[in-house]
Amino acid sequence: MIITQKRDRKQLLENIKDYKKFFLIGCSECASLCGTGGEPELVEMTELLKSEGKEVTGSFVAKTGCQVLGTKIEIKKNAQAEIDDAECILVMSCGAGTQSAVETYKDKPVYPTNDSLFLGNMTRMQMFDERCSLCGECILDQTGGICPVTACPKGLLNGPCGGTNEGKCEVSPDVDCAWTKIYVRLKAINRLDDMKKMNEPKNWAAHKKPMTLNVREKKEEGKK
Ligand code: SF4
Ligand code: SF4
Repeated sequence: MIITQKRDRKQLLENIKDYKKFFLIGCSECASLCGTGGEPELVEMTELLKSEGKEVTGSFVAKTGCQVLGTKIEIKKNAQAEIDDAECILVMSCGAGTQSAVETYKDKPVYPTNDSLFLGNMTRMQMFDERCSLCGECILDQTGGICPVTACPKGLLNGPCGGTNEGKCEVSPDVDCAWTKIYVRLKAINRLDDMKKMNEPKNWAAHKKPMTLNVREKKEEGKK
């Protein structure tokens, strides 16, 4: 899931100071779980805007804010009049959700209320860890299922650096050494020999921005 945090409210209010009437769009998925774009946060934002003398024409929690077409259809069905009435749209999800709104409402300014941080795993309620950096060419099959590209601050692919210390990373005693974790994991699954295999230098070209993927086209190609 995409991990977001609320932007500094002073900065947000400064960004939107030219507008008076707002429509708020949240997201029922990642942003709700992060506590940045579910119903309670929409209510909180509505109160904040009202306390600043602004008007909220309406709000809607989209099922999946980054799904461009689905969100457009949902909002058209449920809140088109309120959107039309607003001068400005605030999107309370991730940067992708914000850009869905930019694509959909071409004649209105759209502002994000959150910062998007990383792709994360939720380890406990509202506690998130980054486990994958979306590198485009996964090497988990060679590292016991633990990602050194993400978990090692240096992104080392072939064992630990000299700074590893009793399972902790030299960067911070609060960070586990990724390669110690990989060693422990490989040992537990009886695959320590995998530590001896050299990983090739990372092919960063596998992640070229902006990336696109057309699964339907790929399926069609597969039929040929
Ligand atoms: S190797 Fe790449 S794709 Fe696999 S978990 Fe790590 S960053 Fe993600
Ligand atoms: S101590 Fe471990 S996690 Fe930290 S930089 Fe070195 S190899 Fe990477």
